[in-house]
Amino acid sequence: MRHLRTVFIAFFAFVFVLTASNLTDVLANALYDGTVYTSKRIPYVIKSQSSFLYGIKAELIVQETEAYLAALHHPVFNSTLDEYVQGAIEEVLNRVEVEALQHYKGLPQSRLMLYGDYELFSYSEDIISIKFDITISGSLPTRRHIVTLTLDMVGETLLLTDNLFANHFIDLNHYVFTPEHLVCYTLAENGYDVNEEKIKLSELVGMVNFRVLNRAPAPRSTSNSPKIALTFDDGPHPEYTQHILKELKKRNAVGTFFVLGERVQTEPRIVRRMVKEGHEIGNHTWNHPNLRLLSAIEVAEQLSRTTAAIKEVTGVNPRVMRPPFGFYGEHVKEASELPIILWSIDPKDWDNQDPEFIVENIVGKARNGDIILLHDIYSSTAQAVGPLVDKLTAKGFEFVTVSELLGLYDYPASALTGKVLNKK
Ligand code: ZN
Repeated sequence: MRHLRTVFIAFFAFVFVLTASNLTDVLANALYDGTVYTSKRIPYVIKSQSSFLYGIKAELIVQETEAYLAALHHPVFNSTLDEYVQGAIEEVLNRVEVEALQHYKGLPQSRLMLYGDYELFSYSEDIISIKFDITISGSLPTRRHIVTLTLDMVGETLLLTDNLFANHFIDLNHYVFTPEHLVCYTLAENGYDVNEEKIKLSELVGMVNFRVLNRAPAPRSTSNSPKIALTFDDGPHPEYTQHILKELKKRNAVGTFFVLGERVQTEPRIVRRMVKEGHEIGNHTWNHPNLRLLSAIEVAEQLSRTTAAIKEVTGVNPRVMRPPFGFYGEHVKEASELPIILWSIDPKDWDNQDPEFIVENIVGKARNGDIILLHDIYSSTAQAVGPLVDKLTAKGFEFVTVSELLGLYDYPASALTGKVLNKK
């Protein structure tokens, strides 16, 4: 590509700072000429960045050759994701250049003008889609290109259509994900109008590979053995939780820890260890209030504060919550963005602080799909975990996280919001 001049211009709020003075006039036209090169959508983009994708910077790339002039906004992540964005931009510019050279007749009027803006969408905090909307005009009828990318912000990878959709689903090229929809774009025959089709994600279970969008860990087991989920509430405890983690690791078993935000703050290393060793972290509120006695706003605050603490310490967002004492009401269901996980076996380890009793009580009842309620703040529970895992293993059980047991990774997160679940 002939880069006669490439200028990067960061834009601050709505103000463009143009650094190449001889380009100013051309650009002013390109950016502000009423009909084709409208800049009206720019404030919208800035707004979406600061609202739910705070911190993603935008840049304007301006490229001028004898055959075309391009001005294209794009996001900057300051990570390897920028390579995917740059790749998409290069592809567009290459295509435009080929076209431009075919139509260029040596006169400035026959130059092609390209103006591109973008919008950001997010399926979750971790997965975002970029939609480039590119208008090309000049000597040819004005037309558009839509280019979309879906990126995993945590894994810093581009998510490919082949991996996002089940085989032979639809011939999709241009789409973005929002928390509740797949939005597909197709260009009308006139080459300019863009048709937008919104499909509810909840209708696409089995067709969209939600495990990819949910950043699910590789499944631990693909066997048909009965599965069980051990859950540990109220920790992390500086001593007992570590002991439990050691016992689980020895036996290659995983569990789900419903942690308290205030304890995450004091024991961040233990929570990081949980994630590192393959356990799931659930939200058990900040400081264990009875949520029935709180307002919806207070419930939401208990949960969001804890989620933020978990995210800060581990880099992972919890996907499940458990209300203290199992107490919830309609306002909790409405306030919780996460599914509400109860249990199916309660050995009352807080009351019966006898390891042997706890083990026998659970082993006698355990069936495929059970969720076991335990508390990692008692010495007796910590002592029970090793023998418990041994006995259940001997009976053929495999240990999985709650999200894996209940198949939550196969659904869009928005479809699980406020759902109460207690057994597979
Ligand atoms: Zn609790």
